[in-house]
Amino acid sequence: MIPVEEALERILSRITVLGDERVALLDALDRVLAESVVAERDIPPWPNSSMDGYALRSADTQGAGADRPVRLTLAGHVAAGRLAERALGPGETYRIFTGAPLPEGADAVIPQEDVTVEGAEVRVPRPLKLGDYVRPRGEDMRPGDRLFEPGRGLSPADLGVLATVGRSRVAVIRRPVVGILSTGDEIADLGTLVGPGQIPNSNTYSLMAQVRAAGADPLNLGVARDRQDEIEARLAWGLGADLLISSAGVSVGEHDHVKAALAALGAEQHLWLVDMRPGKPITFATVPSPPKGTLPVFGLPGNPVSAMVTFELFVRPAIRRMGGHTRLGRPVRPARALAPIANPGRRRGYLRVTLSEGEGVLGARLTGEQGSGILRSMSAADGLAIVPGDTTVGVGEMVPVMLLRES
Ligand code: AMP
Ligand code: MG
Repeated sequence: MIPVEEALERILSRITVLGDERVALLDALDRVLAESVVAERDIPPWPNSSMDGYALRSADTQGAGADRPVRLTLAGHVAAGRLAERALGPGETYRIFTGAPLPEGADAVIPQEDVTVEGAEVRVPRPLKLGDYVRPRGEDMRPGDRLFEPGRGLSPADLGVLATVGRSRVAVIRRPVVGILSTGDEIADLGTLVGPGQIPNSNTYSLMAQVRAAGADPLNLGVARDRQDEIEARLAWGLGADLLISSAGVSVGEHDHVKAALAALGAEQHLWLVDMRPGKPITFATVPSPPKGTLPVFGLPGNPVSAMVTFELFVRPAIRRMGGHTRLGRPVRPARALAPIANPGRRRGYLRVTLSEGEGVLGARLTGEQGSGILRSMSAADGLAIVPGDTTVGVGEMVPVMLLRES
């Protein structure tokens, strides 16, 4: 048995970042940028007002006070999207609105609620400093500013910045396509009757959802019977994908044919038993797939919880790396046990817990029975408490928890 960390290393050392593609701006959200982006002009392109008010020359207002306001003459008005008709002379002011370019000659704005207006006379009751209520030209970006480098994961604000510099399309790392195969004579897929001895297929759907949540596109390869040739044929169908996942049939039972099917496809095996619970038997292999070279294939355990937990630990980081991301795993945070969290087995446990906000620290509690067939324990979980073998985390003790939900 090999430790989780070593298993992950063996996997990631065989995963390479995919090539790039140009996509429409909105489709770049949560993708990884594959180009540098440099600003070409000033934003804003001209100084503009941050308030509805009056544009003026700050020098004109020196010495102003509530009892001796400076009287300026209204010379015009300028709204957002317009330019002032002429420059501002000494003793003059311009009615101005938020976002409107400052008239030439003006260097400050006084908010409208601070002045009194009588006809064409605007009384300013206090001195203003140069630049008051003015957003200077280029305060957001200047020509030549390096905005983004390749490798950046794009946020909503980043998309706004890209729109600001006129990028309606950007180069990002391609989204991995991930083929998903379920195996087992007993598996009845959605839309078919669950006959005697059968159980409904859940793995295909939980794994496809995990693939999507990891930032990749799932390709459903259906359900293969427990026959090597059928597993082989369906895996071969997925060879055009960037990564393949099969679930079940990876133990050493006589109906477990996934490893043999992989061997028949020329697979090189890189791991087998991992020191963890749930989910001990997991295979990771690379299969030749010209012209790309090799295709990574995961053989996950069949138990619904084991399949999902091994996905989080091993497949998700591989998918993230392919997509160009640098933060690969789920975040792990310390939490305080609100009730005992026992891991009776010898293997390291990844136990399903709910999390609650405590006094400055997360509180963790087991979701209940931890059987690897109890999918609802996964459904209820906010995270996975990581507990060494033969260990019970006592009430009040701290335990690291891998967070499964973003919010
Ligand atoms: P196996 O790894 O083939 O021994 O399967 C382990 C357990 O997981 C068995 O109880 C299977 O019935 C169950 N299982 C396997 N595949 C699926 C699936 N696609 N959906 C739900 N349960 C499954
Ligand atoms: Mg089976």
